[in-house]
Amino acid sequence: MGCDKDDGGWVVTDRTGRTNVTGVWTAGNVIDPRAQAVAAAGMGSTAAFAINTDLLDEEVDRAVEQHRHAAAAVR
Ligand SMILES: Cc1cc2nc3c(=O)[nH]c(=O)nc-3n(C[C@H](O)[C@H](O)[C@H](O)COP(=O)(O)OP(=O)(O)OC[C@H]3O[C@@H](n4cnc5c(N)ncnc54)[C@H](O)[C@@H]3O)c2cc1C
Repeated sequence: MGCDKDDGGWVVTDRTGRTNVTGVWTAGNVIDPRAQAVAAAGMGSTAAFAINTDLLDEEVDRAVEQHRHAAAAVR
C-alpha cells in the first residue's frame, strides 16, 4: 500500500497508528512484532478511535463548506 517502513521492515506510524498513506491506519504486530494479544487489541482500539475522529472531522469540514456555499448563493 506504500506505507513507510523502518529499517526492520515494520510499518511506521504516529501514536494512533496512522501511516503516511492517507486513510490507512495499522495496529498490532505489523507495527510492533513484540505486541501480545492485549497490546495489539489496544492499538486496534486506539486506531479505531482516531479513524472515527478523522471521519467526523471530514464530515464537519464538508458541512461547513456546504453551509458557506449555500450562504454565498443567498447573498
Ligand atoms: C506461536 C505464537 C504464540 C503466541 N502466544 C500468545 C499468547 O499466549 N498470548 C498473547 O497474548 N499473544 C500470543 N501471541 C501473539 C499474538 O498472536 C499476537 O499478539 C496477535 O495475534 C497480534 O494480532 P494482530 O492482529 O496484530 O496480528 P495477527 O493475529 O497475525 O493478524 C493478522 C491477520 O492478517 C492476515 N493477513 C496477513 N497478510 C494479509 C494480506 N495481505 N491480506 C489480508 N490479510 C492478511 C493474517 O492472515 C492474519 O489473520 C503468540 C504468537 C505466536 C506466533
